Amino acid sequence: MNATLHFLGSSDSKGVPRFWCNCPVCHEARSGGHNRRTRPSALLRGWNGDTLLIDCGPDLHAQLARLGGPFVPGAVLISHAHNDHLLGLGDLLDYGRYAGGEVKVYAPEAVLPDIQARFAYAFTDRSPVLPIPVAGLDLCGYRVRAFEVPHGANGVAYAFRFDSLQYRWVYMTDSVAVPLTLAEKWLGDLDLLVLGTSFRDESGEDQAGRSVYDVREALALPWARAARRVLLSHLSHDIDVRRALPDRKYSYVTDGLSVSLSAGAPRTGRP
Ligand SMILES: [Zn+2]
Ligand SMILES: [Zn+2]
Repeated sequence: MNATLHFLGSSDSKGVPRFWCNCPVCHEARSGGHNRRTRPSALLRGWNGDTLLIDCGPDLHAQLARLGGPFVPGAVLISHAHNDHLLGLGDLLDYGRYAGGEVKVYAPEAVLPDIQARFAYAFTDRSPVLPIPVAGLDLCGYRVRAFEVPHGANGVAYAFRFDSLQYRWVYMTDSVAVPLTLAEKWLGDLDLLVLGTSFRDESGEDQAGRSVYDVREALALPWARAARRVLLSHLSHDIDVRRALPDRKYSYVTDGLSVSLSAGAPRTGRP
């Protein structure tokens, strides 16, 4: 069985359609079209059958209900404490607390105080959220490590790198202006890069106010171009996913998209 990555949500922080907007993309999304998207989240199913939820935004309940059967993720990773990545956590914590189920939730240690501040009621005798060790975690057949990335005007966020002998990939939805040293350490030799690009081109914007890459940058960044496949997610209403991208290795994520994490022949060497 191949590992698969299923995208539960692919929008930026505000969702598409913007509830106040009637631009062509929001209009198409409102009629149930290709651009209707919910806050960013992904579900990994490992080759061994284990499951891992990456981020849990405010649309989590509807996203899990859409899966068509009872489902509780084996583990959950939280990338940072912004609403669009975190505020569905209450549903998971309630499940763990009242239904007796075990939900292992992990976040980078530096993010734990922010999570505790939002969900103080759940942090009683012990923390329901565990720190991700620096050496990483073994989840779904991967060694999973978190690394800090610049999030522009929003400070810092974290991205996740998944390594197995067969496949290497990174999930990095909220980043901008990644230094070369960081890219060399974490973004090399990738079969897949999931990269957040909220807008098409923000070159005319106040650069100090930005927090996520744009599509123009994603198409030009050497470390993104070096990945074997690039999926662009965290998409605002500026992005019409029906428009083709100029490079075939790049494509847009849509809600419900599933991709197989298989590169063919197994690699040799250490994961
Ligand atoms: Zn975000
Ligand atoms: Zn963010």
